[in-house]
Amino acid sequence: KVQNYQVIVIGAGAAGLMCAATAAERGRTTIVLDHANKMAKKVLMSGGGRCNFTNLYVEPENFLSQNEHFCKSALSRYTQWDFISLVEKHGIEYYEKEHGQLFCKNSSKDIRDLLLTECQQVNAKIQLKCHIEKIEALAENRFEITTSLGCYQCESLVIATGGLSIPTMGATGFGYQVAEQFGHKLVPTSAGLTPVTFNGKLGQAFKTLAGNSISVEVSCNGASFKSAMLFTHKGLSGPAILQISNYWRRGEPLTINLLPDTDITEWLQTNIEQRPEIQLKTLLSTQFSQAVAGFISDLLALNCKLKQLNSQQIAHVVEKLEQWQVYPDDVEGYRVAEVTLGGVETNDISSKSFESGKQPGLYFIGEVLDVTGHLGGFNFQWAWASGYAAGSYV
Ligand code: FAD
Repeated sequence: KVQNYQVIVIGAGAAGLMCAATAAERGRTTIVLDHANKMAKKVLMSGGGRCNFTNLYVEPENFLSQNEHFCKSALSRYTQWDFISLVEKHGIEYYEKEHGQLFCKNSSKDIRDLLLTECQQVNAKIQLKCHIEKIEALAENRFEITTSLGCYQCESLVIATGGLSIPTMGATGFGYQVAEQFGHKLVPTSAGLTPVTFNGKLGQAFKTLAGNSISVEVSCNGASFKSAMLFTHKGLSGPAILQISNYWRRGEPLTINLLPDTDITEWLQTNIEQRPEIQLKTLLSTQFSQAVAGFISDLLALNCKLKQLNSQQIAHVVEKLEQWQVYPDDVEGYRVAEVTLGGVETNDISSKSFESGKQPGLYFIGEVLDVTGHLGGFNFQWAWASGYAAGSYV
């Protein structure tokens, strides 16, 4: 027996649930199908268990896409303030961490429950453990979805299956297959917001520093982020590195300012004048932990007192501290990446309704599209905004 709905959403993640609640509120009969055993798994694991659900300062510049204008319309029609009102309506306590990032005070379960309640209140159904076997476009703009739980038909079909990051959480390339089935182009995908790895000598050195974190400004390909950088057993991580990983390409260097809040030339000159007898390493340990100071001292290869530095060596120290260039060997990849760069090309998708320009009645929302946010709540804001936009049209 065929089950009929006006709207079927595939993917019970952030975007899909937002879309379903919005569509059902308009009186559309709606069901969300997901192959996972739990809804919104990424919401639950996000933000270290506290879900960084949006950001106070959302701008189109916080998103990467081949089509940089695509995100603007949806972001302006469902803003961070709309989602914050929803969070407040549900009595969820939250706080700003840094850079405008808003987190739940209690747990990311609060956001999962918000989505579930919003769906339940308007009778949007959620069917988990449902494996999608086939999608077909029938005549008169209807779709038939063959699943492990039987056959469904609908007028509007929304693909909200996310990206490839963290396969163990249920991520699949399903949305890309559907896009290709209906003639959409894909922007090549890669792991985003991911740690970078180093082999060789530098990799070994980072391993010995694993667990140490310093505040840096890291730049690559015109982008630059000031935040914490963490040394790990495999290389470098922390917010500054996750952010810049979206811009890094194999073979290129990252340029790291190790003292981003200091005028390094002035700092060095002052210390040479005032403390000429101290070792360079001792000076470094006033800014860094003992271990990191030792590492930077080795990097500078200058084992001397401040007064012994000649002008060439001073320039060398300033350059290394301000613009230390490192060449990562790779990124850690989808196993740990927070997002997927690339995805369904947006030129054939309406930025207003998110409907496919190739197949009427078919919609793509959330991370499956070639729109990727910076770290800091921007990816969820994209899920909410694109979900709301499509939910208002389907
Ligand atoms: P998803 O949330 O990934 O949902 C996709 C859904 O589709 C899943 O439920 C999946 O089971 C289902 N699905 C996939 N394939 C199929 C299939 N073949 N059949 C049926 N169902 C399928 N972003 C932030 O803004 N703030 C954060 O704090 C943050 N923290 C993160 C932490 C981690 C560890 C990770 C991995 C990501 C984090 N992100 C964060 C990114 C954010 O989680 C995603 O960008 C967002 O969840 C994308 O929403 P979505 O609805 O498009 O996809």
